Amino acid sequence: MDYECKVLSNTCLKGEYFRIVFSAPGIAAKAKAGQFVHVRIPTLRDRILRRPFSINDTDPEKGLLTVTYKKVGRGTAELAGLPPGAVCSVMGPQGKGYTLPDKETFPILVAGGYGSAATFLLAKHAPRKGVLLLGARSGEDLILAEEYERVGFPVKIATNDGSVGHKGFVTELLEEALAEAKGKKAFVYGCGPEGMLFALGKLCLAENVKAELSLDRNMCCGTGACFACVVKVKDESAPEKWRYSRSCKEGPVYGAEELYYG
Ligand SMILES: Cc1cc2nc3c(=O)[nH]c(=O)nc-3n(C[C@H](O)[C@H](O)[C@H](O)COP(=O)(O)OP(=O)(O)OC[C@H]3O[C@@H](n4cnc5c(N)ncnc54)[C@H](O)[C@@H]3O)c2cc1C
Repeated sequence: MDYECKVLSNTCLKGEYFRIVFSAPGIAAKAKAGQFVHVRIPTLRDRILRRPFSINDTDPEKGLLTVTYKKVGRGTAELAGLPPGAVCSVMGPQGKGYTLPDKETFPILVAGGYGSAATFLLAKHAPRKGVLLLGARSGEDLILAEEYERVGFPVKIATNDGSVGHKGFVTELLEEALAEAKGKKAFVYGCGPEGMLFALGKLCLAENVKAELSLDRNMCCGTGACFACVVKVKDESAPEKWRYSRSCKEGPVYGAEELYYG
């Protein structure tokens, strides 16, 4: 569904990271963790493609939809300039989200960079609180840690440059977290750069731990029509044992066992 949504606020969180809140009752009522919205940025007149963003948070009672985004190019720069009162065409909720954990499940969330936007609703609604492993290039790219702590998820941090937390990859924190979670019904939920997600998926398969990963592939239509966002998934019936899957439609969330890592 496509909605005309008014911008209620659009503020800088830190550095290049922004948070925009839309009045979007139709989307807020239905959105699930891991789904995304496809936003037409009204001032991008020469680039008509929408931009996809994870649904970071919703307030169904007030009809609010929050998106947290990093300014990386023309579209997100224009988005950052939209004042309250501006109206965007917002399509959503799109795609397949995460499986909500049950009350026995110990959720281990693993997020890289703005990936922490995608896993937040899951933390908010998880009946049993777990842990967030948050990875970034440096401290400047760490966002939303306080929000997770507020909903009962302690945060462990890894940065590539060692400016905050563990120096190294967030997957190293996952090895520790999986060892600590032995005996619990752990379930790993990831979102971030593809290299990180593939390492995560392989590790969880090797450790026999269930995992779901949200892949942020460049997208065009966002509705399954154009095949711009395909990822390889396993398919035993195909000659090469894989097939293309449209991540905007069948994803963006995939089970670790579904992905083709070859
Ligand atoms: C399902 C999904 C969820 C996403 N969630 C978020 C989010 O919550 N917060 C956030 O900041 N970003 C998110 N992204 C990425 C976001 O869509 C892109 O950063 C944005 O489209 C860039 O637009 P631009 O015009 O500013 O950049 P451009 O000038 O078009 O490109 C700048 C850089 O962004 C990359 N990029 C461009 N378009 C896309 C695209 N459609 N998808 C992915 N990368 C792209 C390019 O490869 C390039 O490196 C998500 C992407 C997907 C597919």
